[in-house]
Amino acid sequence: MNRKSNYWGTGRIGKSILLFAPMMMLIMLMLLGSASGGDAATQIARLITIAFFGAMFFLIIYTGKTDKWRAVAFIVSALLFCIAFIHNLILERGSMTFSNAEELSCTIPFCHIVTTMMIIPAAVKQTILFPGSLVEGFASISAMFVIVLCFSIVLGRGFCSWGCFYGGWDDGTSRILRKPVIKKVNNSYKWFSFAMLIVMALWSAEAAEPTYCSWLCPFKAVTENERIVDTITLIKNIIFTLTFAVLVVVLPLLTKKRIQCATFCPMGALLSLFNKINIFEVKNDTSKCIGCGKCEKACPMLAIEKRCPTLTCSKCGKCVDACPTGAMRFHIKGTPIDKHTTIARTLFIFPAYTFLVTLCGGSVANGLALIINLFI
Ligand code: SF4
Ligand code: SF4
Repeated sequence: MNRKSNYWGTGRIGKSILLFAPMMMLIMLMLLGSASGGDAATQIARLITIAFFGAMFFLIIYTGKTDKWRAVAFIVSALLFCIAFIHNLILERGSMTFSNAEELSCTIPFCHIVTTMMIIPAAVKQTILFPGSLVEGFASISAMFVIVLCFSIVLGRGFCSWGCFYGGWDDGTSRILRKPVIKKVNNSYKWFSFAMLIVMALWSAEAAEPTYCSWLCPFKAVTENERIVDTITLIKNIIFTLTFAVLVVVLPLLTKKRIQCATFCPMGALLSLFNKINIFEVKNDTSKCIGCGKCEKACPMLAIEKRCPTLTCSKCGKCVDACPTGAMRFHIKGTPIDKHTTIARTLFIFPAYTFLVTLCGGSVANGLALIINLFI
């Protein structure tokens, strides 16, 4: 019997259902708890969303494969988030573009990536920077800051594979081809994201605007962007489209690596630092490792060096799934590497999946409702 089929030993179905039941209740609470009413499409969409997230969780537990089913939930979440987000913008604002005046009056939505540019103004001037102007006092973005902080303390850079509603884009494109066209990507490119973090934090503090959002963010191409009214806004939009096309579509497709997340995103670099204080990690039990290198080849984040996951690991579990001997595993720091593997994995997956459903469940249901409405 191989490692995967022996994941739970005897009583696999029963144990899987036992773990699945509390998560299913949580999912139902999260997706039905605050929601009531709605048209038929909304209600059908909610039920499908519950069934979908429930099924993916069950498969993660039952099959012992983490990344395979996590990725399905993560990629679907990213696509439906963007559909729901754009639709909301059009409903609220009449357009997916925003004007400079709206940006300066802080009436446009923000995402977690902006927190990387808030650090210096918040620390030095006790000022929350978003977006495009310095606003004295704390705005509602502090709520996003708290969510990201809690997530990062519990899961470290796990946010990039279990929480970020953008990450599913390059996670998805990096899986389209069976084999990479560009076979080797130098692992050291991942340090470029740390340079991005430092440059963006300093540049934003100096310019008093979130410069990454204003000038570089690839996801502006699939969410909202500044209305083209002059040469500057035209240049910005060309940059957004180019960064999306190159970093999120073409390079991930050719390399099978999450190039935007691994090498460019300043948020990813910041979250990597939380891996240091986080109790969960992915670790190689070197006594079982045969040195085949499948983990390093599989890792989309360029995080594995000499067969060992490093600081930038996003805990996606792809290397764990790929490892033929079970050497690569989820682990709780301070415990013996060769014991309690299933418990460590389960303890990690529960909060990680809860965060995924919390952050993405609502937009998946909304996106699905829109699609269903197209047909009925
Ligand atoms: S080291 Fe493993 S778990 Fe970490 S990012 Fe790479 S593939 Fe995912
Ligand atoms: S895939 Fe597993 S056995 Fe192969 S090098 Fe990585 S940890 Fe070792």
